[in-house]
Amino acid sequence: LSTFSSKLISDDWPGYSLDLFTYPQHYYGDLEYVLIPHGIIVDRTERLAKDITQDIGDNDIVVLCVLKGGYKFCADLVEHIKNLSRNSERFISMKVDFVRLKSYHPGCVGPYFALRHWRKRRRPQRDGEGSGELVPEESQGSGMRGRRNLQNDKSMEDMQIMGEDDLSDLRGKNVLIVEDIIGTGRTMKALLNNIEKCEPKMIKVASLLVKRTSQPDGFRPDYYGFEIPDIFVVGYALDYNEHFRDLNHICVINDQGKAKYRV
Ligand code: 5GP
Repeated sequence: LSTFSSKLISDDWPGYSLDLFTYPQHYYGDLEYVLIPHGIIVDRTERLAKDITQDIGDNDIVVLCVLKGGYKFCADLVEHIKNLSRNSERFISMKVDFVRLKSYHPGCVGPYFALRHWRKRRRPQRDGEGSGELVPEESQGSGMRGRRNLQNDKSMEDMQIMGEDDLSDLRGKNVLIVEDIIGTGRTMKALLNNIEKCEPKMIKVASLLVKRTSQPDGFRPDYYGFEIPDIFVVGYALDYNEHFRDLNHICVINDQGKAKYRV
């Protein structure tokens, strides 16, 4: 449990056995382990809501939820902020808006884009056997490095924001962007570039997860729930080809799961 004494989940954290919790039957056999159980996510989100409420004080905020992966975290965060606001002298008025990020590359929307660049690496497991875990290509020191960077940079330049029409309303507002996970940080940096053009009064970013990537230009959000190893995770609205969003815990998929839902 010492791993949870900080918000950092270490690389050698073995996770929780799936037998300890319940999860949808249609995912039986598809998961490796539970990285963060749902209860811990909810409790951590409550604390983040408290920190945000204290910082933002009496200001009105526009919560900008980044779909689709951010919807669970955003809904729970907004609920906690609402409860805190109701039960205290500090009243925060909130508007909630939604954006979806799309690359101009056909078929590359948000998480899909990231997934195109994940491939298998043998990563030692608890039992020392190793499994085909999804890891980013660049962390493998392979010849793919240059290509991935090139494509990622391109995706940032070409990023399209769906729901962008409403962004002009952000002028002069306090904006809280709510995202599921920050990997390289390129997606968030690109989104921030666009939002800054609307001249909001303040922009803060809250992300449930931050990955420990080897990116020198890594982005750090103002608020985050947990820093996790550089592995591919699903659940709590994070998907693998649209699957696993209905899983409450944040989990790591096994080979069977990857093969079953591969497109
Ligand atoms: P970036 O590398 O630009 O920070 O991340 C791009 C996007 O890829 C994120 O907004 C997120 O939607 C998706 N992504 C990154 N890592 C993961 C992951 O481990 N699981 C899932 N489901 N999506 C991820």
